[in-house]
Amino acid sequence: MDNSFAIPMSRRSFMKLMGLAAAGAVLGVKGDAAKAEAASPTISTMDFDNAELPVLFDVDVCVVGGGPAGTAAAVSAARNGAKVVLVERGISLGGLATLGCVFPCMPTFADGSDTPYITDLNKRMEKQGSPLTLGIDTDTYFGGGRGQYVPEYLSFVYDEMCEEAGVNVLYNASLAGAVTDGGRIVSCVVQTIEGLAKIQARTFIDGTGDALLSRFAGIPVEKGSEKTGHNQPMSLRFEMGGIDVVKVYHFFRDELKDAWKDKLSDRLLKDALKEGRTPFVEFDKMKSTEKFFRAGVTSGELTEDDVVFIQAFTITGKPTVMSMNCPEMPGLSFSATDTVSYSRAVTFGRKMMRRLAGFFIKNIPGFEKAYISREASMVGVRESWRIRGKYYMEAEDYLKAHHFPDAVCRTAYPIDIHDVNADFSRKLKRGQYYEIPYRALVTNEISNLLVVGRCASGSFAAQASFRIQPTCMSMGEAAGIAAAWGLSRGIPVNEVKWEEIPEETRSYVSK
Ligand SMILES: Cc1cc2nc3c(=O)[nH]c(=O)nc-3n(C[C@H](O)[C@H](O)[C@H](O)COP(=O)(O)OP(=O)(O)OC[C@H]3O[C@@H](n4cnc5c(N)ncnc54)[C@H](O)[C@@H]3O)c2cc1C
Repeated sequence: MDNSFAIPMSRRSFMKLMGLAAAGAVLGVKGDAAKAEAASPTISTMDFDNAELPVLFDVDVCVVGGGPAGTAAAVSAARNGAKVVLVERGISLGGLATLGCVFPCMPTFADGSDTPYITDLNKRMEKQGSPLTLGIDTDTYFGGGRGQYVPEYLSFVYDEMCEEAGVNVLYNASLAGAVTDGGRIVSCVVQTIEGLAKIQARTFIDGTGDALLSRFAGIPVEKGSEKTGHNQPMSLRFEMGGIDVVKVYHFFRDELKDAWKDKLSDRLLKDALKEGRTPFVEFDKMKSTEKFFRAGVTSGELTEDDVVFIQAFTITGKPTVMSMNCPEMPGLSFSATDTVSYSRAVTFGRKMMRRLAGFFIKNIPGFEKAYISREASMVGVRESWRIRGKYYMEAEDYLKAHHFPDAVCRTAYPIDIHDVNADFSRKLKRGQYYEIPYRALVTNEISNLLVVGRCASGSFAAQASFRIQPTCMSMGEAAGIAAAWGLSRGIPVNEVKWEEIPEETRSYVSK
C-alpha cells in the first residue's frame, strides 16, 4: 500500500474499504472504472464517530472550502447573524480565482445577474485599484460578473470581508471526514497544523468544488461526462511578467490579423493608455493565429498537446503581466477524480508551461524580456464530482431558459465544454437567461447540508454553464442566507423554501 494511504483505521472502516476494493476485483474492472465503483457514492474514510478529537469550534454554520462559492456562503451566513467557521486547505480565500490564477471573472451574459454580494465585492475591489470592466468591449462581454479581480487583491479583500462579518477562517485546514447521525452531519473532521480536530455545527455548507464533504456524508455523486466518463480537462495556469503588452497587441492585430474588432480595440487601447490604465489585450489560438502556433510544433518548440488551447489576457493593475489560461492537460490522458492521474497531470502541465513560456519569449514581439512570474498553487479543475440533489440541473434548463420560483440567481453563460465536441454550441439570445433553483443546492439524504459552486447538483453539460465564478458566488450567497434563516426558525436547510424567505432578505427574487 502506498505510504500516503497508510493511515490508522478502525476495523470497521478497514473492512468497508476492503469490501469496496473487493467489489471492484469481483466485477473485473480495472483502473479508473474500479475507482468509479468504489468512489460513488461511498468514499474511503475512517470511522470518526467515537474518535476522541478536540472540538475546535462549535458553531451555527461550518463552510468547507473558501472558493468563490464557499467564501460567499460564509460571509452571507455571518452577515445574517450566524456564528460561522470557514475551513480552507490553502492560505488564501478565492479558490481557483486566487490559488488557481483564474482571471478574469466571466460575464454571465444575463443583465441584472449581480446579486448584492457581488456588487459589494466589486466596489471593494475597485477601492483596491482593481477596476472592473474598463477597457473591455461591453458589447461582447455583457451582463453581470465581469470582475477583473487581481488575485492578490482578491485574497486581501476576502480576508477583509470575513473579518468584518466575524467569520472564523481556518487556514491550512483540510477536511478529512464527517460524522453523521440520523440524516444529519454532526461534525466534520479537519486536518490542521496541530493535527486532527472536530468542528461541530448545526448546518454545513460544502464549497470544496469536489463535493468532498457531500461524499463523506454519503450523498450520491456523479463525475465526468455521462457518455465518456471523462472529466473536463484540467489546466495549470500561470502568469508572465516583463511584457510590453502594446507590442503584443500590435503583433496579433497587425501581423497575424487576429480577430480584433479593429476600430473599437484601437480606441479602447488608446483610452486606456491615455488614462494610465492597463489596456485589455487578449490572444488565443484561433483560426487567424493557428498557423503561428502550429509553426512551434513544426519547429519542435511545442507539442500537439501544447497547442490545443492557448489563451492569454492582460491583468488590470499589472501593466506588464499576462494571465495564461493554459496549459491545458489533455482530458483523455488525465483525470480530475483519480489521485495518481491528477498528480501526474501537474508534472505534465508544468513541462507544457515551460515550453509555452519559452515559445512566447522567442516568438512574440513584446515578450523579449518576459518571465514566468507566478504559477498556480491549485490545479485548474473545471469539473470533478457533482452531487445529485433535490433538483438536478440539465442542459435543457439552459437551452429552454427555465425560470423557477425558488431561483437563487440567473445566468446565460453558455455550456462551455473544453476538449469535447458537444452539440451545445447554441447560445441564448440577449435578454434570455435561465435560473438556478435553491433545490439544486440541497439533498434528500442529509437535512443540514447545502452544496454550492461547481459541485452543485447538475449534469456534465449543465455544470459547464453554472461553474463560472459569479454564478458560484451567487449560489454561495443564497446558501449563507438560507442557512442563517433556517436556523433562526428551526427549519432544516433541505426543507427551507427559498421563495418563502421574505424578499428583503433574499439575494435574488425570480421575476
Ligand atoms: C482553468 C480554468 C479557467 C477558468 N476560467 C474562468 C474564467 O475565466 N472566469 C470564470 O468566471 N470562471 C472560470 N473558471 C471557473 C471557475 O474558476 C470555477 O468554476 C470556480 O472557481 C468554482 O468555484 P468554487 O467555489 O465552486 O470552487 P473552487 O474555486 O474550486 O474552490 C474550492 C475551494 O475549496 C478548497 N478545498 C477543496 N478541498 C478542500 C478540503 N478538503 N478542505 C478544505 N478546503 C478544501 C480549495 O482549496 C478551494 O479554495 C475557470 C476554471 C478553470 C479550472
